[in-house]
Amino acid sequence: MKSIVVRQPEELVIEERELPQPQAGEVRVKIRLAGICGSDSHIWHGHNPFAKYPRVIGHEFFGVIDAIGDGVTDRVLGQRVSVDPVISCGHCYPCRVGKPNVCTSLVVIGVHRDGGFSEYACVPASNAWPIPDGVSDRHAVMVEPFTIAANVTGQVSPIPEDIALVYGAGPMGLTTVQALKGVYGVSQVIVVDQIPERLAMAERCGADWAIDNRQHVLSAWLEEKQIRPTLIVDAACHPSILQEAVSLASPAARIVLMGFSSEPSSVAQQGITGKELAIYSSRLNAGKFPVVIDWLQKGLIDPDKLITHVMDYRQVHDAMTLFERDRQHCCKVLLTFAD
Ligand SMILES: [Zn+2]
Ligand SMILES: [Zn+2]
Repeated sequence: MKSIVVRQPEELVIEERELPQPQAGEVRVKIRLAGICGSDSHIWHGHNPFAKYPRVIGHEFFGVIDAIGDGVTDRVLGQRVSVDPVISCGHCYPCRVGKPNVCTSLVVIGVHRDGGFSEYACVPASNAWPIPDGVSDRHAVMVEPFTIAANVTGQVSPIPEDIALVYGAGPMGLTTVQALKGVYGVSQVIVVDQIPERLAMAERCGADWAIDNRQHVLSAWLEEKQIRPTLIVDAACHPSILQEAVSLASPAARIVLMGFSSEPSSVAQQGITGKELAIYSSRLNAGKFPVVIDWLQKGLIDPDKLITHVMDYRQVHDAMTLFERDRQHCCKVLLTFAD
């Protein structure tokens, strides 16, 4: 089989590999579609501190079960499945309190072990979530990116009277906007970014306002509209945003961070405690695959609004380069693996 491998930082190749056999408790998935994510780029360029090389990248993937390991009784050959990349131990403290995404022995498929940019991948059967007939392949491969939003919103339980402010109109921000509007019915959602095309995508995803913060000073814009956000999501992931979010937030607001910067954020306690703000963080997803599959079945979200390109996996180099360089026209890029 062919696999897309990062042999070492900056060396991305398509390799011929032996067809893997599923171990006990695993299934083998014949991949149909996979999505390119920022973290795939980070592994390619050597910027992911968790990655070990060589690595088959890809943690957003969908396909059909074509082999079943010993002891697997609840999956069948031919079943369409989307794969949750989070593998957890099930018994450590975070696992016991419902946060397998930060398991003390966390393994992420496509980061810590070989992933889904491959014609076939073996994964634990419990990570392979069956996709109902009514959900298309294109939507099924988008389950993982939407679990990022499900994890964010699951932490803060949005309500219709929330005024949400989302920083960043990339995939994480746009899926969050769709969840806030489509699933939770949040009445006002404001998105901030610096790329006009991305802001237009945010509007298509349901944002009530899309603000270019190179054109507008966000604080002044909010003040003029007399808006104090009650829920702020940092999907732009810059360390300076926390400080701004704290100052813009309504009293009793919630702030969710998704960044992984090692740079400190400078923020005074007074700003947080004076308004009794709640600050959350969100990483990967904690068992959100069934949640998002349900959203898709009910038509509450529309992944097509994020998909800008679909390319053959043999063009992975071009696809990833496009994904990295053309932020105007490129949002989610899918790779096809079907014959
Ligand atoms: Zn991702
Ligand atoms: Zn655990």
